[in-house]
Amino acid sequence: MNQPVNLDQSIRDAFSQAGKILVIAHVRPDGDAIGSLLGLGLALKEKGKQIELVVEDGLPASFKNLTGWEMVRKWPAMKPDLVITVDCSDLGRLGDDLANEFQVDINIDHHITNLNFGRLNVVDTRAVATAEILATRLPMWGCPISPASAPALLTGLVTDSLGFRTSNMTPQALRVAADLMEAGADLPELYQHALVNRSFEAVKYWGAGFTRLQRMDRLVWTSITPADRQAAHYNGRDDADMINILSAINDIDVTILFNDQGNGHIKVSWRSQPGFDITPLALQYNGGGHPAAAGADIEGALAEVEAEVLQSTRCYLKLKGNGQKS
Ligand code: AMP
Ligand code: MN
Ligand code: MN
Repeated sequence: MNQPVNLDQSIRDAFSQAGKILVIAHVRPDGDAIGSLLGLGLALKEKGKQIELVVEDGLPASFKNLTGWEMVRKWPAMKPDLVITVDCSDLGRLGDDLANEFQVDINIDHHITNLNFGRLNVVDTRAVATAEILATRLPMWGCPISPASAPALLTGLVTDSLGFRTSNMTPQALRVAADLMEAGADLPELYQHALVNRSFEAVKYWGAGFTRLQRMDRLVWTSITPADRQAAHYNGRDDADMINILSAINDIDVTILFNDQGNGHIKVSWRSQPGFDITPLALQYNGGGHPAAAGADIEGALAEVEAEVLQSTRCYLKLKGNGQKS
């Protein structure tokens, strides 16, 4: 993919030429998707741009603490001059309808599996979160970080780093977090809200997954279904961060969560300990992610997908165990 010599200048120009800007984040949005969407959207709005912020699944209620949440919708109403994606490694992450309807002008992301599908691609795999890229570069693109956009961006950084503790953490990410605090973000409040507080329904939902927990050697897995969500009155088809709780289990190399979406697709999440890069596994199923956290959407029935993925993951672990650990 050809990139202009001065990418930052090209983006600055694209921003200044556009009147109507559409920003899209990924399906089943996490804190980095929503934080980046709102952080960028608010910064552009403050520059006088007409903006629309879109996520195919809409906004999860847990992000209603962030300024601008009410702007997030499932489909744009206007015809945009400029289309930007945030935290999406491939077009499929937008959702099929959005991916088929729009050409992406600017792709801003930090996944090692990013396919550079935009006309301009700002992909920095050293960044802990897409929000970190935005916090660093928005001023270069003519958009200062404001008291409204700073909390959204810090939410992205805090959530993707699980509270500054993932293996990809850097001193730079901490400096960016400090800058965002100085720009008006309340770290303890955002941290508590995004990573500590949970709804009663979410914890009930975890319970269903925990009862089916299984282990074989150094692999742990479980599944969750639409019936579990219904029984717990949990809204949304995400895992309520269950995978991050499961990956705290000691003496395990890889953790897998099978989330039955109820539409013939199973969302698979992998988490691994340092030394096990699980992106090849996710890519094998047209998914993507980071070395220690990856996912894929796989068509099929739960039992079928579970058996197939467990087998391929066990094969992979066996290979790594035989002296090829990277
Ligand atoms: P999750 O397991 O959904 O928390 O996702 C872990 C990481 O993998 C995140 O960085 C996601 O963006 C990425 N990821 C999850 N599902 C997919 C998918 N279907 N395609 C590409 N990347 C994914
Ligand atoms: Mn994300
Ligand atoms: Mn991210």
